[in-house]
Amino acid sequence: MDLSDTPAEEEFRARLREWLAKTLPGLPPQPSPDDWPGRRAYDLGWQRRLHDAGYAAVHWDASPAIRLIFLEETEKAGAPYVGANFVGLLHAGPTIAAEGTDGQRARWLPPILRGEEVWCQGFSEPDAGSDLAALRTRAWRDGDAYVVTGSKMWTSHAEVADWCELLVRTDPDAPKHRGITWLAMPMDAPGITVRPLRTLAGSAEFAEVFLDEVRVPAANRVGDENDGWRVTMVTLSFERGTAFAGEVVACRRVLGELAGAARENGRWDDPALRRRLGRLHAEFRALWRLTQWNVSAAQASGGVPGAGGSVFKLRYSHARQELYDAAAEVLGADCLDLDRPWTLDRLSSLSYTIAAGTSQIQHGIIAERILGLPKGR
Ligand SMILES: Cc1cc2nc3c(=O)[nH]c(=O)nc-3n(C[C@H](O)[C@H](O)[C@H](O)COP(=O)(O)OP(=O)(O)OC[C@H]3O[C@@H](n4cnc5c(N)ncnc54)[C@H](O)[C@@H]3O)c2cc1C
Repeated sequence: MDLSDTPAEEEFRARLREWLAKTLPGLPPQPSPDDWPGRRAYDLGWQRRLHDAGYAAVHWDASPAIRLIFLEETEKAGAPYVGANFVGLLHAGPTIAAEGTDGQRARWLPPILRGEEVWCQGFSEPDAGSDLAALRTRAWRDGDAYVVTGSKMWTSHAEVADWCELLVRTDPDAPKHRGITWLAMPMDAPGITVRPLRTLAGSAEFAEVFLDEVRVPAANRVGDENDGWRVTMVTLSFERGTAFAGEVVACRRVLGELAGAARENGRWDDPALRRRLGRLHAEFRALWRLTQWNVSAAQASGGVPGAGGSVFKLRYSHARQELYDAAAEVLGADCLDLDRPWTLDRLSSLSYTIAAGTSQIQHGIIAERILGLPKGR
């Protein structure tokens, strides 16, 4: 694989850099982690700027090389994170692009790209997390709608979302993977109650969602009725395979800042700390190479990432925790100060080995689907 830029890629990189250098200084400050309406407006505003400058669809339409240049340059420049646009841009949108009808693509994709609508993910339930196919939220057909009753758990951004990629059980008598359907549910439909949950890092980032006879138009079904598990695998492969790619560059930036802070506060003199930071540097470099490989492999196989995403997800989520543990060592006692930027990141890094599928589940996928080991013991 040749990883150097072609002249066209070089030109794209230079143009993007110039635009970022011009645009970023004029951005308003980020709202506080607790101000979800403010964060929604901020994140949509950033997406709108990208759209107006012609960069909105880079995540979807561009070649793998251009996509990676976009992630690399925006993160290096410290551009805002996708934030509340995470689900729409990085896995609901790509799923609709891959599995939706022309009408569905025309209805849902442009507002995501223009920064007008936020999506959330209603997959997990109180007894259906790792064993997602155990979900019990029921939906039955009534005329031209599905009527949905049940509850969802850990729904990130539910409080500010316009749409939810929702998994429901449409055939309770079928084997558990075969009776599931993937629906796009409007979050303002009557019968939806959202109850925010506060995380260890202090943010009400996700919520419980209760559904009481919510009517969802049957036209909002993506894929066939009872074929939702197959569509879900597409969503999860985007979520694990490519959605975290930009964060690797951000981690590399933080690592550079940590080295700078260690030099300033004298901890750089400790050879064990320097070795630790050096090892992390190599780890994130390798993860970026793996990202390049995953994105290219996904493009070559029709655009949907494969099980290789689990290798990335497993290693990335651990490396992120190790990075913020190293940050605590650099900060010393200051790491207990919640106003320090890395302190909250350290607390939230703990969730990475759970969110988007736990490490144990990624181990299982790698063992069975990549290494071909037998199922079970
Ligand atoms: C920050 C964050 C954001 C999230 N956002 C969303 C969201 O927006 N939408 C959404 O739908 N969900 C979301 N989730 C939920 C997430 O997908 C689930 O928490 C995750 O899938 C694990 O499920 P669980 O919590 O039910 O744990 P469980 O499935 O109960 O697992 C408990 C433990 O048992 C282990 N385990 C379970 N089964 C096996 C097995 N077969 N082999 C080995 N070990 C096993 C697990 O690895 C884990 O350590 C989010 C979670 C977090 C932390």
